[in-house]
Amino acid sequence: MLSNNNVLVLLSGGIDSTVALWKMKEQGYNLYTITFNYFKRFSKEIECCSQISKLAGTIEHKIINLDFLSEFEDEIYSSSSSLYKKNNIIPPNYISFRNLIFYSLAAWYAETHGIEIIVGGHNKNDINYFPDTSINFFEDLTKLFNFSTYTSNKIQYDIFMPLHKLTKTQVLEEAIRLKIPLDLTWSCEKQENFACGLCRSCTLRLTSFKKINMIDPIQYDD
Ligand SMILES: [Zn+2]
Repeated sequence: MLSNNNVLVLLSGGIDSTVALWKMKEQGYNLYTITFNYFKRFSKEIECCSQISKLAGTIEHKIINLDFLSEFEDEIYSSSSSLYKKNNIIPPNYISFRNLIFYSLAAWYAETHGIEIIVGGHNKNDINYFPDTSINFFEDLTKLFNFSTYTSNKIQYDIFMPLHKLTKTQVLEEAIRLKIPLDLTWSCEKQENFACGLCRSCTLRLTSFKKINMIDPIQYDD
């Protein structure tokens, strides 16, 4: 499936995207990473992404500043939201078409740097939760990239999801197998310095550690 030796990994600083990066590293690819700094994200996340990229030996870690999209943030939709009225199971952290925006910017970077493979760390749980992480979404987006870029008459672009069959816990097991320094990853969406231990990302993370009987090496609020 993979045809080119350069890969671009979308890196958020969490465990999933870090495992996706390390899996590409394990296979000997030339690594590039891209991180999106969007509204209300913590500088801690960006720092983690930089440290992880450095440790993985990436050729370049590109940070894209999306501050101008001040409407573009993780939200919990209130019951008065028009979006909520259409579907009462809108999950926290949902942002409409987030991945169309992120992967379009990744495609720009990939094409301008001669990279054919774009890698995302969406796991099996995400795919059930967010419609724009589904296999259908990425298959169709791959087709779009392959007829809408200047170089696509010569290059076969591929969007690759190495974790799409793994649960969050299986991703953590993979992180341990790959000897990833998990203390460098960051998941909390509510605060930095110390993780809150209560938000959706912290809860998922702590549940996975508990399932494999391990202590999370990052610091949490007491
Ligand atoms: Zn948290």
